[in-house]
This record gives sequence, C-alpha cells and structure tokens, in this order.
Amino acid sequence: MAARVGGKVALVIGAGSVGPGWGNGKAAAVLYAREGARVMAVDRNREAAEETRGIIAGEGGDAAAFAADVSKGAEVEALVRATLERYGRIDVLHNNVGIVEVGGPVETSEESWDRVTAVNQRSMFLTLKHVLPAMERQGSGAIVNISSVAAIRGAGVHYASYSASKAAILGLTRSVALQYAPKQIRCNAILPGLMNTPMIREPLKDAYGGDVAKMIETRDRQCPMGHMGDAWDVAHAALFLASDEARYITGIELIVDGGLTLRCA
Ligand code: NAD
Repeated sequence: MAARVGGKVALVIGAGSVGPGWGNGKAAAVLYAREGARVMAVDRNREAAEETRGIIAGEGGDAAAFAADVSKGAEVEALVRATLERYGRIDVLHNNVGIVEVGGPVETSEESWDRVTAVNQRSMFLTLKHVLPAMERQGSGAIVNISSVAAIRGAGVHYASYSASKAAILGLTRSVALQYAPKQIRCNAILPGLMNTPMIREPLKDAYGGDVAKMIETRDRQCPMGHMGDAWDVAHAALFLASDEARYITGIELIVDGGLTLRCA
C-alpha cells in the first residue's frame, strides 16, 4: 500500500512532549514520517524537538528539529523560512501546541489569561500567517488544528482560558477553510476528548487534590469506553485529515473522544 502522506512535507508545531511517553504532537510527527512525510519537528523545548527527530531518524525517516516559541511572530517567521530552505515546500501544517491553566474568570490572573491565549490561539494565527503564502504558491495544503472537546463541553474541571482559546480555534479553522477552499488549501480541527498523555499530569493534578492516580481513574471512568484515549488516536485522525484521502473535507470539527461528548450526565 502506498504511504498515506508519501512525498509530503509536514511542519509539526509542538512536536515534542512535556514528559516521558507519547504526547499528541510527538505521535503525529512520528506517524506522518512512518507514512512517508518529511517532518520539521518544532518545539520551544529544543531537547523535546530533538528527541522526536531522533525517533524518526532511528526509524529511517527524514526529519529536522527546530526550537522556537510559536507565540512570537519573529520566531514563527524564522521556522517557516528554515522549513522552506530545507524542504522547499510545506504540505501539512499541524498546529498542536496548547497549555492548560486551571480556573474560572475570578481565579484566573490577567497574566495567566494572556499566556494561555498567546500559546493556544495567537500561535495558530502566526503559523497560519506565515505558512499560508507558501501553500498558496504551491496551490495545495492541509492544515490540522488541535482544539479540544473543552471548546464545546465541560469535562469536570473549570479552565475558562483554555476553553475559550480552544473555541477560538474552531472559528479560526472555519474562517481559513472558507477563505482558502478556492486555493485548494484545506483547514480542519480535531477535538480530542480525555486523552492519557503527559500534558495532563502537571496542570490538572491540583484539581484532583494532587493525586495523579485519582485523576487518571476519574478520567477513565468519565469516558463511555471506560478508558481515556491516547496520543495515537489523535495522530491517526490527523493523518487522515492531512492525507489526500480527505481531499474534499475542509472546515470540519473531528471529535476524537470515545463518545464522551454524547453523554449528558
Ligand atoms: P504536550 O504538552 O506533551 O506537547 C506539546 C508540546 O508543545 C510540548 O513539547 C511543548 O514544549 C510545546 N509547546 C508548548 N508551548 C509552546 C510554544 N509556545 N512554542 C513552541 N512549542 C510549545 O501535549 P500533547 O499531548 O502533544 O497535546 C497537546 C495538544 O493536545 C494541546 O493543544 C492540547 O490542548 C490538546 N489536547 C489534549 C488533550 C489531552 O487530554 N491530553 C485533550 C484535548 C486536547
């Protein structure tokens, strides 16, 4: 069978993982490479980006690592330039970065609100701003934006800034999908549900009395399938949307949550 993204160049933003194991961005970067893509792995943590590059290289794939804080325009401009210099094109833009800070509007400081908005929302505006012209020149492209079911539902923990920024991503995705459809550039969002990835441990554990085991047990129980999903569930959905199999799909919100959002109580 032909590689599903063979010959494509995938720019994965947030391609590392905040802890040991598989985060969504790391799994997506490795899966794109396994399916034939050349991958630029970007992360603000150089070691995390390097680790992902090393995994891909170790499997015989072609990858490069780039360290950048994608909430900053100049750094995004530089990473896009570096990708084009190395690979000459960008077929897939995978926007994965996202951070969580717990609290409603009263508990959230202005600094926290601005930090979450800058990383989760502004970063996507910036990567789109600098990648879309290259895709337009090519006459093709596929963008995958990682939102969350927190954009549309509550899941037990109140995190106003996170929910608001993840909802903004849906509006941004639809807007770009419509504007760029005539140019054959697709833009879709994935809404992961409760996933067991390294990112949930630190920011969320306080909401469970600092007890990670209790957090995992609670989150597993909340899911209709009886367990959280993992990074590969998100990565496989992304692979489909990034591939030509999804060539007539744009502006959608693909929920990957094992039925979580079907539940009303
Ligand atoms: P992760 O935190 O392990 O990996 C994200 C990577 O992004 C990290 O390596 C981090 O260093 C990097 N990063 C953070 N801010 C950055 C910045 N400003 N510039 C460059 N890099 C930056 O997380 P993950 O498992 O890969 O998943 C993250 C995405 O999945 C987020 O958008 C998150 O909101 C979304 N999501 C996760 C869940 C879940 O339950 N795990 C559920 C819904 C959505």
